[in-house]
Amino acid sequence: MNYQSILAEIQNEIKPLFKEGKVANYIPALQKANPNDFAMSIVTIDGNEYHIGCSDKNFSIQSISKVFTFTLALENYSKELYKKVGHEPSGDPFNSLVQLEYENGIPRNPFINAGAIVTTDSLISKYKDDTFSQVLKFIKKTSNNNTINFDNEIFKSELEHGYRNLSLINLMKSFKNIDNDTKKVIETYFQQCSIMMNTKQLAHSMLFLANHGRQPITNEIIINEAKAKRINSLMLTCGHYDASGDFAYKVGLPGKSGVGGGIVAVVPKKMALCVYSPKLNKQGNSLIGTKALELFTTKTGLSIF
Ligand code: GLU
Repeated sequence: MNYQSILAEIQNEIKPLFKEGKVANYIPALQKANPNDFAMSIVTIDGNEYHIGCSDKNFSIQSISKVFTFTLALENYSKELYKKVGHEPSGDPFNSLVQLEYENGIPRNPFINAGAIVTTDSLISKYKDDTFSQVLKFIKKTSNNNTINFDNEIFKSELEHGYRNLSLINLMKSFKNIDNDTKKVIETYFQQCSIMMNTKQLAHSMLFLANHGRQPITNEIIINEAKAKRINSLMLTCGHYDASGDFAYKVGLPGKSGVGGGIVAVVPKKMALCVYSPKLNKQGNSLIGTKALELFTTKTGLSIF
């Protein structure tokens, strides 16, 4: 299949959609993104790469970081982790407080904000003050790239305006589902969200999930096969908040979005993809990114179904 020309077709077909959607503004620093940016990357497990658009431009990975922290926490705690966070879709917005109150502070899954905050808390219990550097080290390992870092301005901006996330963590602390100091946990969570990567690096970073848990370029085992299956399953059912069903319906691949405008997706046993376009739909997922991935699976037949 000629992936490079498929990328060119996609870039052409998404053009009319640039007038739709809205760049995230509830974290003021995110609003600086260029609404007209578009990039898409495909990296196959046998080492071929195809890119289009601004695939070298770094953007804030935001909730895509939840895949990395969940993987690291699952590796450390296995099933024990599910005492603190579930694995069911929430059907609610990414930052919702409602469900958390009547479900006694146990978030539905690790890919909504509350669930990711609990996951980060579990990592702090393990790595203490070294948690963020361990997360960064882990991302460098999965992406086979040593240059990755975070953006201090985005981190500070989220720290200053993260009222809802502060409510979530305090509510969970009241239910005794946060073990560490709330300030430490929320800062680490915001820091992981402000990590900057481009579509090339993010596609590389997801290859282990397309390859039963082994990074195919370095041949390093990141996580065992059974756990890689579970991470992919959760990305399929919970990767896009209250639009997870819609994403599975239209795209048919495990994926995870972030409000920075990135979406990663996995074609099991074949490849990982990443698309970037910062204008979001109502549920906080990249509008053009979702469409581009839908076009990709329609044109190639490479969905999991
Ligand atoms: N840092 C963002 C927040 O907590 C992440 C949300 C997202 O990317 O969907 O609001």
